[in-house]
Formats: sequence, C-alpha cells, structure tokens
Amino acid sequence: LNRRLAEFGTTIFAEMSALAVSTGSINLGQGFPDTDGPEEIREAAVRALRDGRGNQYPPGPGIPELRAAVAAHQERRYGLLYDADTEVLVTAGATEAIAASLLALLEPGDEVIALEPYYDSYAACIAMAGARRVPVTLRPHRGEDGAPSFRLDLDELRDAVTDRTRLLLINTPHNPTGTVLTRAELAAIAGLAVERDLLVVTDEVYEHLVFDGAEHVPLATFPGMRERTVAIGSAGKSFSFTGWKVGWVTAAPALLSAVRSAKQFLTYVSSGPFQYAVAEALALPETYFAAFRADMQAKRDVLAAGLAEAGFEVFRPAGTYFVTTDIRPLGERDGFAFCRALPERAGVVAVPNAVFYDHREVGAPFVRFAFCKQVEVLQEAVKRLKTAF
Ligand code: PMP
Ligand code: GLN
Repeated sequence: LNRRLAEFGTTIFAEMSALAVSTGSINLGQGFPDTDGPEEIREAAVRALRDGRGNQYPPGPGIPELRAAVAAHQERRYGLLYDADTEVLVTAGATEAIAASLLALLEPGDEVIALEPYYDSYAACIAMAGARRVPVTLRPHRGEDGAPSFRLDLDELRDAVTDRTRLLLINTPHNPTGTVLTRAELAAIAGLAVERDLLVVTDEVYEHLVFDGAEHVPLATFPGMRERTVAIGSAGKSFSFTGWKVGWVTAAPALLSAVRSAKQFLTYVSSGPFQYAVAEALALPETYFAAFRADMQAKRDVLAAGLAEAGFEVFRPAGTYFVTTDIRPLGERDGFAFCRALPERAGVVAVPNAVFYDHREVGAPFVRFAFCKQVEVLQEAVKRLKTAF
C-alpha cells in the first residue's frame, strides 16, 4: 500500500460484517437493510435485463431516463432545477460519486474540511487526491429536554477555514451520529462557503430518512450555492438496494463536467439494467417515501428504546438509519475493544465510531448500531444486549 493509503487497511464494515458471519451474530454493524426495496422496482430491473436494456455499456453519464428522473426528483422535492444533460451524472453508488468529486476538484496540498466523525471513504479519497483533511468535530450536546445529540459548532467550522481550504465536505443527514443539520446551520455553512469562495461537496444519501418532522434542506438551495455545490444521492439508501450501486451527482455544468472526467477513469459506467429500475424508483409517489420514512422511524424507536433499557446512553438520531450510543454508563470506555468483544458477549455486531475520527480519543466511547433491520431482529438484538449487560 502506498504512503497515501497506508493508514487505511480494511474498512470497518468489511471487518465487522465478517465477524458477524463467523460468530453467527446479529449484524447491526454495516448499514444495509435486511428487507429489499419495492417489488415493482425489482421487477423493473428484471424487465430491463430481459429486454436487453443496459446489458451492454450504458452511456458514460448514465442513461437519459435516469438523469431525467434525478432532475425531476430534485425539482419536485426541492425546487432545484438541473439540466439532465449537463448537470446530472450517474455513478457507481455514492461511493464513486464521492471519489470522483474529490479526485476531480482537489489539488495536492488543498485542505478539505469534513465533519468529524466522518464516513470512512472521505478520508481515503481525500488522501488519494493528495489533499489534507481538516476535521471539525461534532460535539455532544444536551437539548432543553435533556436528550443528547451531536451538534456542529459553527465557530469551530469558521476557525478551521484557512487560505488553503478548497472544499467543505458536508454530510446531512449525518452518518454515524444521525444529526440533521438545521436550516440555520446550513445557511451559516452556505454563507461561509460564499464568503471564503469554497466548493462544497454535500453527501445527502440519507435525504429521505429524516424523522419527527425534521426537514432535509439541500445546500444547493441557499443563495450563491448552486454554482459551488456538488450534491450526492444514492439508490442504495433511498430505495434499499445497496447491492445495485447506483448513485448520482447534481452540480452546475463546470463542476459536473470535472466530476464526470474523473468518473470516466474510475469505472467508466456501471449497473446498466439497474439504472432503468432506479429511474422508475425516483418517480415513485410520495406515499412510498413517507412509508419508508415511517418504517425506519418506528425501527429507530425500537432500537433506541432497547439500547437505553440495556444501559447505553442513546443519541436519538433525527435522520439516517444509525444510532450512536455512549458505552460509558456500562462501565466501558473503549469502543474498539467493546465491538470486538460484543459478538462473543452478546451475539450482536456494532461499529466503533472511533474509526470515523482523527481524534480517536474523542470518538473512543461511542458505538454505532444500524436499525435498518426487521423489528423482530432488532427486538432479538435488544434482548441479547439486555441479558449481557
Ligand atoms: N455516504 C454515506 C454517508 C454513507 O453512509 C454511504 C454508505 N452507506 C455512502 C455514502 C455510500 O453509498 P453507496 O452505497 O451508494 O455507495
Ligand atoms: N454506508 C454503510 C455504513 O455506514 C456501509 C457501506 C460500506 O460498507 N462501505 O455502514
């Protein structure tokens, strides 16, 4: 492994999913649903495959039907107008969208500000681009009702910007904390980006998973942002087909064209027949999205309540399908050791949030559980955890 990648071995998700299989544990580590997305969308993929649509290389930027569907989705939900030909790009999942964006837009030595804890591929892609990550840490915070959550300190964000800062890498709803940035916070981020002339890459893969009436507001909707924002979405997350690896980018033409240049040499294209199915998925009626959200919120409630009963401190997520906990009330302090021992102790797999931090000591007591699982599975996991602790 070269020096740029030396610190990145195997992703925690592969390690923990392998541990789940080898110990026969319930896997609440890697974030993937145990129920596939809509039947009609699976049928659409079968139809495309059988009719010979997408079995050979699809067009480089993605099939026109899917690009049009992405543009229509952004307009319908957010009032954002994107041209399907020059401002939309289909990628091999959000993962490739992140990689292509960072590889296309960064020069060696550029600084990238990312919210810490951050999704693990951010650090690796920033490193591959030869750039430098500058983490801004989300801090535990108690709301008026006493409930803890992770919050962005806008002064810390502002102080992190230097003359070398090129790009803000934002993620909302945020993995792993479940934080959903508020309209006021996003307005401040947008103001900073405009003031310091920064690019923004915004990972919005959990855009449909916001709970308790919270609102997902895309950064591109703020004044001055459309021209400097690269937004990323994922069919894996929005339609529960993580194996299909269909993602997308929306951005103004100059940025989109840069990202497309990098993407060409990463995968060129991917997921032919699935692109046709995802085009149909994006046109599903609002009832689909509302039901999806309600289902995940109910699952969140089951797992969050169960973890609290088992003695964890629970950071109630406002979005995503992850819940972060603090293990110190259990008399534990090292999330790594805790997660390595958890399969033997309780038959459950979770992920140590420390892997998402540069400041590993800050992330040490936090452990993430995924709740995108059937309610009976979550209940069984809770039962096991309550017995073990
Ligand atoms: N960004 C975030 C925040 C994620 O949690 C994930 C993975 N679940 C991705 C990007 C990657 O998405 P995809 O599976 O579409 O590549
Ligand atoms: N994004 C998912 C998670 O956070 C996993 C994706 C992966 O395995 N790379 O768990």
